[in-house]
Amino acid sequence: MEQSPSFKTSELKNKTYTTMPESASTVALNTAPEDDAEPALDPELLDQELQLVSSLAKLQKLEEMIHQLRTLLPERLLEPLALIINLKAATAVSVPNSPQALYQRLSQSASDGVREVETFKSLWRGREMKAVWERVDTLIYENAGQLLQSNGMWQEDYDKILEEIAKHDAARKEKQQRAKEEEERSQLQSAEGGWRALVEEYSQTGFPGMRVLPPRRDSSFVVLLPKVGLSFKVNAIGTGQEDVPEFNVTSKSSSAEPASKVESTVLGCLNARPRKWDLNYLFGMILSYSNLFQTTCAKCGKMQDQAANLPTLRRLNPTTPQPEQLPTFEAYHATCV
Ligand SMILES: [Zn+2]
Repeated sequence: MEQSPSFKTSELKNKTYTTMPESASTVALNTAPEDDAEPALDPELLDQELQLVSSLAKLQKLEEMIHQLRTLLPERLLEPLALIINLKAATAVSVPNSPQALYQRLSQSASDGVREVETFKSLWRGREMKAVWERVDTLIYENAGQLLQSNGMWQEDYDKILEEIAKHDAARKEKQQRAKEEEERSQLQSAEGGWRALVEEYSQTGFPGMRVLPPRRDSSFVVLLPKVGLSFKVNAIGTGQEDVPEFNVTSKSSSAEPASKVESTVLGCLNARPRKWDLNYLFGMILSYSNLFQTTCAKCGKMQDQAANLPTLRRLNPTTPQPEQLPTFEAYHATCV
């Protein structure tokens, strides 16, 4: 058989590109056990289910629009005229009081109607529907022109079902993410020498543009960005025997106040990061400030925004770093996110 068409489920935040299942019946056969204790759908099944339900939701929406369009001609399009002809039904206010007013209303209802038809047409011919139509064509072809006839009623509201499945899918992904993070965290915990060994190692090998000083007795260490004149004190918090500590960042200057506005903004961004236990994440993020005064915003491409602020916000670059490499970050102005 030819390859099934692939299409995008636009309703979902998580863009997934997968192929449509052979048919709905294979979905039920392929049930694989999930590592979860709860009777959750297999991720692949869930994906297929999402595709199917989202296609059905689109079809349902189109049909709804067709019903709506049927009332366009002649009723809604000529409504301004009908009001005049059928004066009994019309109130005095709703009747146009001059030919110009009538013309206004007629051209308004005409352009509204055209827009409605155009919206429908673009949905029908849109990229997202293309895969659905191809799927339907394939099915008609495979069944030699015979298609299962429905009773003309939608038994379910697929928009609602889609919403539920999407919610379920999002919850599953979040759970997966948490489990992954937990695993990484426990790996760090069992690492020889813990976080101190890692800082020690970095203090020896170093990074271009960033210096890490060896850990101090008070469970802190210093990171320097010589090129931009910034220095940070990183403090390990919650250094219990078992715990993997989390790290917060303060100004290295002896006074409690950060040395400059830029420094305090950067500190704010650093301390708002996720994965506070993850030193590689932190080092990667600090390193992303090593060229602060030459870094442009990933959104607007400029160094300074209208208020002359530098792009001090950081977003994790989604590409996974190579082993032995720190994660990288993109710079943004606060006004650009
Ligand atoms: Zn910007």
